[in-house]
Amino acid sequence: MGVESTVPIARTAIVRSGTATFEARVHACYADRAMLAFIGAHPPTFALGATVQLVLSGGRLRIPVRGDARVVERVEGRGLRQYTLEFDEVMFAEDAAPETDRERRLWTRVRPPSDNPVPIVLSPITAQGRVRMELDRYGRLVDVSGGGLGVLLRDGTEGPLAGHEAVRVSFRPPRTTANVERDCRIRSRALTEHGIRLGLQLETVEDESLAYEPMWDCAACGERGLLETSQPYCCRCGAVRDTDAEVAAWGDLIARSQHRFTGRERGCTACGGTWSAEARHCGLCGTALPV
Ligand SMILES: [Zn+2]
Ligand SMILES: [Zn+2]
Repeated sequence: MGVESTVPIARTAIVRSGTATFEARVHACYADRAMLAFIGAHPPTFALGATVQLVLSGGRLRIPVRGDARVVERVEGRGLRQYTLEFDEVMFAEDAAPETDRERRLWTRVRPPSDNPVPIVLSPITAQGRVRMELDRYGRLVDVSGGGLGVLLRDGTEGPLAGHEAVRVSFRPPRTTANVERDCRIRSRALTEHGIRLGLQLETVEDESLAYEPMWDCAACGERGLLETSQPYCCRCGAVRDTDAEVAAWGDLIARSQHRFTGRERGCTACGGTWSAEARHCGLCGTALPV
């Protein structure tokens, strides 16, 4: 990705798609891409991969800049729809360092797919009913958290979800025997080298049984399956995480609430974190726990 200019290169954007014209605020501008926000009750919907005409103006531009751009990412917020549009050419070579490797330009923010065969069914929530998509046939789970899921759909399989904003997710959490159903908003869509990545945000986050995290193994003491965010320090020896955390295979995931170091039996005198009786060090700060 290019370097973001400290002074906005452009402030406003006009996007033309077919015969329609839309005005947007420029959220960020790089040498080869712009992030635009459309506000209001009826923000436009552009398909991922579609080519649109983009005109940028304002900011440091005395003359508007125009060119063809490709829609590479869409993010939904509260009453806001944000797109990342990538120019076919580098438009601001003098203002920001372009990323010249096209593959890297497109895919820098994408985590490599985990090889998780996950029995998840996605059903777009519509007035007409549901369309079932079984994720293990069409894609992969790439990350999970208490707030949502990241899934990767193979190229050409996003069709049933295109144009939908909400989806019902049905799956059986690892180490449990009953299916659960949760409604999610499709918060983001992005083109990746492996397909289309969807960021699904759970409508409710009260259910800790759905809180999974990437896990890491402690090289210092050999403890396995520590949680990336909840346990940045090893709960057994107190060493700080010095390796990447990865999403485990579906059946090996451990919910935060079921992790062996989750509990309230021991308290950290340094930071107030609470842990199970099995923990010897605080997973949040590494301090030895009082016995
Ligand atoms: Zn350790
Ligand atoms: Zn602590």
